[in-house]
Amino acid sequence: MRPFERSWRLALGGLILSLGLWGTGYGPWVAGLVLLVLGLDFVWGVWDPKRGYFVETLNRLEPRGKELYLTFDDGPNGEETTQVLGLLEQYGAKASFFVVGQKVKDQPELVRAMVQGGHEVGNHSWSHSGWINFSNAPGWQREIAPTNQLLESLGVVPRYFRPPVGLTNPHLGAALEATGMTALGWSFRTQDWRETNLEKLVERILARVEPGAVFLLHDGPHPGVAASKVLAVLLPRLLAQGYFLTPLPH
Ligand SMILES: [Zn+2]
Repeated sequence: MRPFERSWRLALGGLILSLGLWGTGYGPWVAGLVLLVLGLDFVWGVWDPKRGYFVETLNRLEPRGKELYLTFDDGPNGEETTQVLGLLEQYGAKASFFVVGQKVKDQPELVRAMVQGGHEVGNHSWSHSGWINFSNAPGWQREIAPTNQLLESLGVVPRYFRPPVGLTNPHLGAALEATGMTALGWSFRTQDWRETNLEKLVERILARVEPGAVFLLHDGPHPGVAASKVLAVLLPRLLAQGYFLTPLPH
């Protein structure tokens, strides 16, 4: 379903129904209920990019074989990102990194290492603001464009944008259209940023493994199990199951 399509259908259906019932006295109640549902649907759309409520979002890829896509948000992050890159190389795995512009500014060598390692690098905004869902189109551009410029100076052509915290709004679509980028969600949010039990986290991920799946992990700082610790256990198990860990298609 295209962005907003469900809302338009619901609004139109609600309008017809409430007008039809106006004479019975139920019309205003139906109209109020429809408005409430539309409002809740809008808020849910802001919080869950997987729904593609405001902008068409890629959440999983059509599998040709047993491909899996590991994506890491919020880096680059010094030694942790270096360790993640080292583990990926050790197991012959490729991944996608959604980096934060202002962090790239201080650690450009890590983005160069990602490129050299054959990984995909995507845009995860400049500031990673938790209020980004209140941005208008120029506001989104101020987050997207400088990050793209910096990445381009490091040899990356960013194809994907993943909004911070997964927040979207009605203006994001226009901003992405202007840059020719695709919004990327995930098929499974691992909650690694708050899970402190390594085995539990790995089991949770393994339970959701299927060809074409996109997993959201974080190599940025967070209180959960570090991505490098997860990979050290997860990668050999995924490979043993015959999965290929590939970067998002460029
Ligand atoms: Zn993030």
